[in-house]
Amino acid sequence: MRASKQSTETTIAEHISGAERLVTTELLQSCLSNLLERALNHSLGNPDLINFSINKIDTNKIEKRKSLPIRTVKVEDHREGISLVEKILKHLGINQYIINLAINWIQFGGAPNGGNMRGAILFDIATMQRLEENQYSGIRATNMDMSVEAELQLKKLLYSKNIYNSRIRDALTLATKVCNFSGVIAELCCSDDPDYIGGYVANKNLGYIRINKLKPFGQHTGGRVIFVDSTCCDVNSYKDYLRNSIISITSIHEATKEEVLTFNEMRKILVGKHE
Ligand code: AMP
Repeated sequence: MRASKQSTETTIAEHISGAERLVTTELLQSCLSNLLERALNHSLGNPDLINFSINKIDTNKIEKRKSLPIRTVKVEDHREGISLVEKILKHLGINQYIINLAINWIQFGGAPNGGNMRGAILFDIATMQRLEENQYSGIRATNMDMSVEAELQLKKLLYSKNIYNSRIRDALTLATKVCNFSGVIAELCCSDDPDYIGGYVANKNLGYIRINKLKPFGQHTGGRVIFVDSTCCDVNSYKDYLRNSIISITSIHEATKEEVLTFNEMRKILVGKHE
């Protein structure tokens, strides 16, 4: 599903929301109804165009994956959240110049005109170049979902700590797909929803690190940056993987159990991994 506001003489087209589902034919109707409700109730406003695209897929092509491990870090405010993002990305070998660029993009929108994008920025840390064909739309990861069983497992795990929210299902699914490819360093995300100020950094080894505050409340911009290293990532295959491979998250990583952390606890984990 994709919902947007069309351009007018005085405004430019604006992406509002999008979502992906892998369902059997029997569940199609209820799934469409849920996605329609989602499209019509987004805090970025009412769409004037909603697209549904339904593709039959060969179930033999579905690749099953375990989710990334989940860590939740509760920070004092968005400044502390951004400081943690810097520490994690630095730990992963990304230089400060690139970190600053990325933080600016995810806080204020990565389109050339400064607005929100529909997809992610794909950034090559080896050449310092953006690799999307179109920098207004970015690259969208598609063809992924979480199974009913995995979603139940996720809810059970996070409800008990009072840290479940409905966004985590899709975000964890996307982050798990994005990070499971050779030469991908990390994914950074800040929601563009003005009512939701959280985001995450994801990496195959460190996991999906949710940070509860990454921007001030009420801000209408956000974005995603995927960092790759083209010296060890086949970028064209990766773009094809993001768009076309069919990934289902069928279980949640067990290391999730005890992980609700403060800024300092997460910082110590990063320091410990250096030693
Ligand atoms: P959200 O977390 O849904 O608020 O999305 C935040 C930003 O992530 C959006 O503004 C898009 O730039 C980007 N984004 C959302 N969905 C996708 C996707 N499926 N693939 C790549 N980027 C996405």
